[in-house]
Amino acid sequence: MDFLPFTRPSIDEDTIAGVVEVLRSGWITSGPKVQAFEAALSEICGGRTVRAFNSGTATLEVALRLAGVGPGDEVVTTPLTWVATANVILEVGATPVLTDIDPITRNIDLDRLEAALTPRTRAVIPVDLAGLPVDRDRLYAIARTHRLRVVEDAAQSFGAAWNGQAIGSTGDFVSFSFHANKNLTTIEGGALVLPADVDVALCERLRLQGVRRFPDGGMDVDVLGGKFNLTDVAAAVGLGQLKHLDAFTARRRQLARRYFERLAEPDCAALGLELPPADFANSNWHMFQPLLPKGTDRGAFIAAMKAQGIGVGVHYPALHLFSLYRNLGFKPGQFPHAEDVGARTVTLPLFPAMSDGDVDRVVVALGKSLAELP
Ligand SMILES: *Cc1c(COP(=O)(O)O)cnc(C)c1O
Repeated sequence: MDFLPFTRPSIDEDTIAGVVEVLRSGWITSGPKVQAFEAALSEICGGRTVRAFNSGTATLEVALRLAGVGPGDEVVTTPLTWVATANVILEVGATPVLTDIDPITRNIDLDRLEAALTPRTRAVIPVDLAGLPVDRDRLYAIARTHRLRVVEDAAQSFGAAWNGQAIGSTGDFVSFSFHANKNLTTIEGGALVLPADVDVALCERLRLQGVRRFPDGGMDVDVLGGKFNLTDVAAAVGLGQLKHLDAFTARRRQLARRYFERLAEPDCAALGLELPPADFANSNWHMFQPLLPKGTDRGAFIAAMKAQGIGVGVHYPALHLFSLYRNLGFKPGQFPHAEDVGARTVTLPLFPAMSDGDVDRVVVALGKSLAELP
């Protein structure tokens, strides 16, 4: 039987033809395809201004810069995320402040957020882990009360919604990633949804070396920008992917439902897995992540699944335990919920091209693997 990876992009023939067309066009870096991609993204985001970037890390960094976050400022985020979320805070010279997760949603615990605020707190970066949105109503109520900027790290929640409103269509800054493992990809890439009061020209300068061009062919540089522009080749992939976004999300929800149904059967329920919240209204089911029973050797479990032809990922160990963050003073035991989830989480295969039978295969292998482990 074929190896079943934990994720695999679905790229159709029209998309491949679109890429070939760009490659033959004579203009392969940022150009008309990027503009078309930005326009299409804007439509999904309720007409808001969207700019495309070459990663979802660059979008977060530029959002912080546009929000005026820098040295002396604190930015609050979750310890349970891809490390990029916290790295960008360091990148702009600010101080990351972490606060523990809600063990049910596994997202930043909004009950703890206010306790983490100080007079130096400038912004908060909520993360929609696995595509399950953070409660936007409560989040923005807190942000308004304390005059905080919000940079939504929606890297995993493109196509998800909060109370019927697409993620990206409301809020302050909203950052998406289109990395190859995300639910919509440009191979590498990202997009930043901008608040209405932002300087869009400055956003564009921060994206490309700070360069401002004049009609006479001259230029000036008045701010230090990055090298963060998306290519037209990548944008062509994104345009091809966008046609399937709704179908991708619908299929992901079906597959997640099947996992819940199969794992609720008595022999599976006895395995002692902890399942994520069964949210079929908001989440895009970017990932399906049960927690292994306490004390399970995760490495041995992953190896046992691999031996049965099934790929399992880990997204993510709690980031404050990484050397870089320990060296900044973070300590084990500081965020017990994030540490527990980070130590027990596994990402099971879930991608649109999977069949129902693939889910069944994963569930059978899961039972066998857990039964075999000491
Ligand atoms: C993928 C991801 C990022 C970074 O996106 P890149 O495109 O890989 O730079 C940031 N935050 C989260 C939560 C992610 O999953």
